[in-house]
Amino acid sequence: MHDADHSAADHDGQGLSALDGQRRPLVALAVGLIACFCLLLAGLQAWSAWHAYEAVQEDSRVATANIARALATHAQTSIRLGDAVLAEMVERIEHDGLGEAATARLTGRLRAITREVGELHGLFVYGADGKWLTSSLPRPMQGNNFDREYFQFHLLHRGSGIHVGVPVRSRSTGVWILPLSRRIDAPDGSFAGVALATLNLAWFGRFYDSFDVGTNGTILLALDNGTLIYRRPFRDDQVGMDIRTGTIWQQAQGDGLAGSFIATPRIDNIERLYSYRHLEGVPLFVASGQATDEIMSGWRRTTVQTAVLGAAALLLLACGSVALVRQIRIRERLERDLRRVGVSLRRHNASLQSLADSDALTGLANRRLFEDRLVSEYERARRSGAPFALIMADIDHFKQYNDRYGHPAGDECLRRIAGALERGARRPADLAARYGGEEFAVILADTDLTGANAVADTISAAVAALDLPHADNPAGRVTLSMGLYVGHPALAERNDPLAWIDVADRLLYEAKDAGRNRVVAREGHEAAA
Ligand code: GH3
Ligand code: MG
Ligand code: MG
Repeated sequence: MHDADHSAADHDGQGLSALDGQRRPLVALAVGLIACFCLLLAGLQAWSAWHAYEAVQEDSRVATANIARALATHAQTSIRLGDAVLAEMVERIEHDGLGEAATARLTGRLRAITREVGELHGLFVYGADGKWLTSSLPRPMQGNNFDREYFQFHLLHRGSGIHVGVPVRSRSTGVWILPLSRRIDAPDGSFAGVALATLNLAWFGRFYDSFDVGTNGTILLALDNGTLIYRRPFRDDQVGMDIRTGTIWQQAQGDGLAGSFIATPRIDNIERLYSYRHLEGVPLFVASGQATDEIMSGWRRTTVQTAVLGAAALLLLACGSVALVRQIRIRERLERDLRRVGVSLRRHNASLQSLADSDALTGLANRRLFEDRLVSEYERARRSGAPFALIMADIDHFKQYNDRYGHPAGDECLRRIAGALERGARRPADLAARYGGEEFAVILADTDLTGANAVADTISAAVAALDLPHADNPAGRVTLSMGLYVGHPALAERNDPLAWIDVADRLLYEAKDAGRNRVVAREGHEAAA
């Protein structure tokens, strides 16, 4: 076996593991890319869901704010109307007094106004003692409203402005009303009574019910001091309730005229998006709220649908990816196995080749490899102009050696001589071969006469050093005769490498003739020399 073959096989083995190393990143890259894609898809879905969420919130903020604006305008208009009527009443009473004729005229006027203005429940005039003086009602009524909040307010407060009272149940009709009132002054400026206009809360309710705020939506009207006037859905026990501890009142105390917020009031524990608005010039505010559950139900449905679809797509992608990675792995394994088979095949081929090229007894190159190498080295030298040397060697009196010491000893002798030849031809381009029987050949590429003689001497010395006893050899030990032919193939006319064997062989026989155990060397260029 030749060293070059070993190293080639080892190199292939290393190449195999290096290739394995390069294949791994392919799977990692595929897995990484797919994972990135999945993340991107999920991220995109989350991002668009978030945007849709914000858009829905913004839309319903605008919707509730618009409702609040409409409610505020409506309440403001009603109160202004009531105020205008009250202002006229007060002016008349203060100017005309409440004599019989004036009262009759006033009563007629009050009835006419109440008939015309739907939201007005009634118009009333009370004296300084709280006694009822006249009203828009069809029949006179008994009663004293001295205890009413608005009466007490005007009694204690000078000033001609409108006062919005707390909602009460009407003593005259039993319906829920919102009292608007103004103070009546006597000519000397002392308290002379109260003019009262009452707004029918049911009338507000009808208007509020006309808005679509969803099943769990709400609308409310309250005094800035925290007294609830109306809340949809309407409940008797909530009218006049103190809502100062509630989130809606607290949020509505913020700086601006209007605003929006999300809150869950204790009254029904339903989370809503609220928009509130304060009335201008009147201590009232309105709020409209939509249940976030209802606002988001459409968004939630769409989001769940797209999430399910997205998850299905991701699942499909993941399954496909797993299959893909598996396929890549299978392909890699096959390729690896194939490479392994290839490597071992090359190794086998190399060892077969080496077997085919080497001599079984000595391990030297055999005659076939020798002749191949001779041709290729000769031609290389012919092309490059380098010198080329060939040694033919033959063991002296080997027949007698065999006869005396036996064939197995002859074989051993052949092996030892082969070793000596190999030690003599040490350069990589040198080749020692068993040419046949006990005849050997040494190719010395790029070697001139001096160099080749040196190699021949080295071989002779190596054989001498073996000191193999040979009784039938005059030297007393095994010796070698060599023919050495050296020259420049480039200078030869004929391109006939095999002819160099003949020349070297002739020189070998010259050495035999000259007494053996010697080298006969000659320099020439033509194989026919
Ligand atoms: P000369 O000095 O002229 O070369 O004499 P010689 O005896 O060496 O001459 P010859 O070439 O006639 O002898 C060759 C002998 O080498 C014949 C054979 O017995 C022996 N031989 C050839 N091949 C082998 C081998 O493989 N093993 C052994 N043991 N002997 C071999
Ligand atoms: Mg011989
Ligand atoms: Mg011979």
